[in-house]
Amino acid sequence: MDTSFFLAWIKEAATAVQAERDHLTQLDAAIGDADHGANLDRGFAAVRQALADTPPETPGAVLVQAGSALIRKVGGASGPLYGTAFRQMGRALGDAPEITPAGLVTALEAAQEGVQKLGGAAEGDKTLVDAFAPAVRALAQAVQDGAKLADALETATTAAEEGARATVPLQARKGRASYLGPRSVGHEDPGAASTVLIFTALRRAAGQ
Ligand code: ADP
Ligand code: MG
Ligand code: MG
Repeated sequence: MDTSFFLAWIKEAATAVQAERDHLTQLDAAIGDADHGANLDRGFAAVRQALADTPPETPGAVLVQAGSALIRKVGGASGPLYGTAFRQMGRALGDAPEITPAGLVTALEAAQEGVQKLGGAAEGDKTLVDAFAPAVRALAQAVQDGAKLADALETATTAAEEGARATVPLQARKGRASYLGPRSVGHEDPGAASTVLIFTALRRAAGQ
């Protein structure tokens, strides 16, 4: 995977977030403050602008720039969290021009660690970690088993979807939704839903 692969990922993610903006906002209206779709759409628009203004030369630079733009532009919880995820990923990739599937796994593991360190959420707390963590785990396993990249990413996306769906019966323990206590039960976590979009975008960037 080269720089253009990572640019394609960001572009796919931005397109998906824009298309699902209202859905993400509806999810956040139920257990938050109804801004998740708007937050991410604004954030990814800023990411695309930043990447167009200052074209990055390495995969790592694409992700560090993307993460910085998200942190800069998104005030809600998801900005610093996704921003940290992308930045940690980018740092893990260093200045390598070409990333192997194993390198992608290591970088996504660093992203997850960054998110959990910043937000303090564990799996089961009804956050984006509930989609992110199983996706990274599934990807790591598939890559270790020697799966083709596109197949490994398909497996990861499915794991993210299952993780997001599994947030419905949970009671939120982190973020705004936790203020609702037991009333947060019965709704999908918006951040888990957007994490599905980000892994789906990665799968799309890998093509067939
Ligand atoms: P805000 O809650 O500030 O309005 P958003 O609506 O953009 O921000 O994002 C909400 C999402 O952020 C939640 O659905 C959840 O997935 C995620 N989130 C919130 N707090 C945390 C946390 N401490 N750790 C991980 N994810 C979190
Ligand atoms: Mg919100
Ligand atoms: Mg908000």
